[in-house]
Amino acid sequence: MSLLVVGTVALDSVKTPFGEARDVLGGSATYFSVAASYFTNVHLVAVVGRDFPEEHLRFLRSKEIDLAGLQTLDGKTFRWRGEYGFQLNEAHTLETQLNVLQSFKPVLPPSYQTSDMVFLGNIDPVLQQEVLRQVKRPRLVACDTMNFWIEGKRDDLKQTLKLVDIVIINDGEARELAGEANLVKAAKTILSNGPKTLIIKRGEYGVLMFNEKTVFAAPAYPLEAVFDPTGAGDSFAGGFMGHLTQRGDLSEAGIRQAVVFGSVMASFNVESFSLDRLRGLTRREIDDRYREFGRLTSFEHLQGV
Ligand code: AMP
Repeated sequence: MSLLVVGTVALDSVKTPFGEARDVLGGSATYFSVAASYFTNVHLVAVVGRDFPEEHLRFLRSKEIDLAGLQTLDGKTFRWRGEYGFQLNEAHTLETQLNVLQSFKPVLPPSYQTSDMVFLGNIDPVLQQEVLRQVKRPRLVACDTMNFWIEGKRDDLKQTLKLVDIVIINDGEARELAGEANLVKAAKTILSNGPKTLIIKRGEYGVLMFNEKTVFAAPAYPLEAVFDPTGAGDSFAGGFMGHLTQRGDLSEAGIRQAVVFGSVMASFNVESFSLDRLRGLTRREIDDRYREFGRLTSFEHLQGV
């Protein structure tokens, strides 16, 4: 099976209580693709400007990410500047420069049009729909978004939600999207708008997955060193969709297992700035941490209840 992602490829400037990075590689599609590359081949759809460093392209190619759908346009690459406080759970956006994203018209190369799995990463919901229109009968479509689009393009975003099977967003976005403070009620409202499954990312508190019948919870891995949460959500989505694509099991059990692999990839990503930790990971480290997640949550064998 093959996996397609559309999203941003960005140059990020990030400040956390532990340090600062300027114009480093970032973007929703970047984190997603690199995390997913440990599980499957990824077709990337995105845009960069002429200022985008060649070394970043070399790095993405080294992960065997298909860049046939990455356009280079005259102008500057999308830039995002954000800051985190000690709590680290929520990014405060200081600046968003859309730059070449404003004139981006995604055109899928023929080899992308038969992708089985599609992830509509965080980007303008109009672009998410343009990409989806060009894919012939995908088996599964998931999407992400953020407050920038919930506030700026609400109606277009609602349209995207009607077209997808799974929505993956963070808790603040779920509350804002549903207009409801209680997460369980917010989940019900979002599920009534189209998607069959909703995954709510809660930073260091892990994730909750809702469908019509069940709720599944996975913790975040308790780490001693968390440096930069940027891209945690996209790395989660990359591990999640990557595993689903690799295994092809779209049952509830398969999706639950993918949630844990997503949590594994997010836990690695936050250990350093930009994609520094994801760069040199090995599949063995990923599988070891997956098993540690199992030990972390294991209690079903305990007697006495
Ligand atoms: P997250 O996984 O939510 O931490 O995503 C972080 C990435 O999202 C950063 O690398 C940013 O470049 C990117 N980003 C920030 N704002 C936007 C936006 N409005 N649309 C798309 N991508 C964004």
